[in-house]
Amino acid sequence: MRFIYESLPSRVVFRAGALEDLASETARLGSRAFVISTPGQKALGEHCAGLLGSAAIAVYDKALMHTPGDSVRAAVTHATQLDADCLVAIGGGSTIGLAKAIAFEKRLPILAVPTTYSGSEVTPIWGYTENGIKHVARDAHTQPRTVIYDPLLTLNLPPGVSGPSGVNAIAHCVEALYSETANPLVSQMAEEGIRALGRSLPIVVREPGNVDARSDALFGAWLGGCVLAAVGMALHHKLCHVLGGAFNLPHAETHTVVLPHATAYNSAAAPEAMNRIARALGTSDAAQGLFDLNVAIGARVSLKDLGMPESGIDHAVSLAIRAPYYNPAPVTADGIRRLLTNAWQGHRPDGKNT
Ligand code: NAD
Repeated sequence: MRFIYESLPSRVVFRAGALEDLASETARLGSRAFVISTPGQKALGEHCAGLLGSAAIAVYDKALMHTPGDSVRAAVTHATQLDADCLVAIGGGSTIGLAKAIAFEKRLPILAVPTTYSGSEVTPIWGYTENGIKHVARDAHTQPRTVIYDPLLTLNLPPGVSGPSGVNAIAHCVEALYSETANPLVSQMAEEGIRALGRSLPIVVREPGNVDARSDALFGAWLGGCVLAAVGMALHHKLCHVLGGAFNLPHAETHTVVLPHATAYNSAAAPEAMNRIARALGTSDAAQGLFDLNVAIGARVSLKDLGMPESGIDHAVSLAIRAPYYNPAPVTADGIRRLLTNAWQGHRPDGKNT
């Protein structure tokens, strides 16, 4: 056995109702909190500001999907004018993503309150999109210092958002299992994350108000974020970044469509990872099990349905093979074109992707 494991500092408060700790947890980080949300979650941002009282200096409700560069510059200017000394991000990966981009510029600590399953709240990975290209990097200053996981905040996450968001977290776990930098602890967490999300997501979409299933899914999302933070990802994440940046596709749904196909692409090259994924899902084949899960949660299964033009496949292939990166199976233009064509059409993975 041979590995490097680096533990990342982060304080996690996990329980139904944990939002009531917001003021005391924020006070550990600062006294002038810049509260961030999306426009759709402005009321929740205002609720947080109410809990923080005079420690909240603004509710900035302009977080956008894929963190456009212009939106980052505007938010940094605003936070600077108000002399913020900490950031409170309440929402999904887009909201936490904007907080991270501000934190990178201004070195402010973040308290994250995730309301989806993206996992961004426990990673030092941040990014922004400029001219159709999504730039992603790691920087320790962008890792939220404190995370409040309150499953009650996810009860209103619509089934159509919950399912794909959970599969986004499963995708972190899948690629952690065949990562170039995989290690035994992270692999245990990844397998458990797939197990927790695989059993809870079908319940979550059927019964969005089921607090036990919501807790299970959020626990799986935490594990997904932890493994994403700890080890490198591969082809699947590369493809989703390319597709998201180039065609402005919805992040979690893109992960959901691509994951069974990327898994099939790597299946022969990463048999031990495939066994663990299949075991966690209670199925005999990892890629088929992931496709079946997508069907069970009622997710869209084709890139066509997400709005990607078929003529974009060649452009995506050229972006995906542009810079070499680790992947268990060799990344070839023909292989990626087959994979993307299958995913565009929404076919069940046929195991012949490579
Ligand atoms: P999102 O943050 O864009 O949220 C999707 C929509 O759901 C938004 O309109 C939001 O307002 C709404 N929403 C969120 N929580 C809700 C709730 N509880 N109830 C009702 N509505 C709610 O989507 P996401 O999938 O969480 O995040 C995607 C972004 O996160 C992408 O930009 C992606 O690159 C990034 N991401 C980053 C990391 C990382 O480690 N840096 C990891 C995963 C995702």
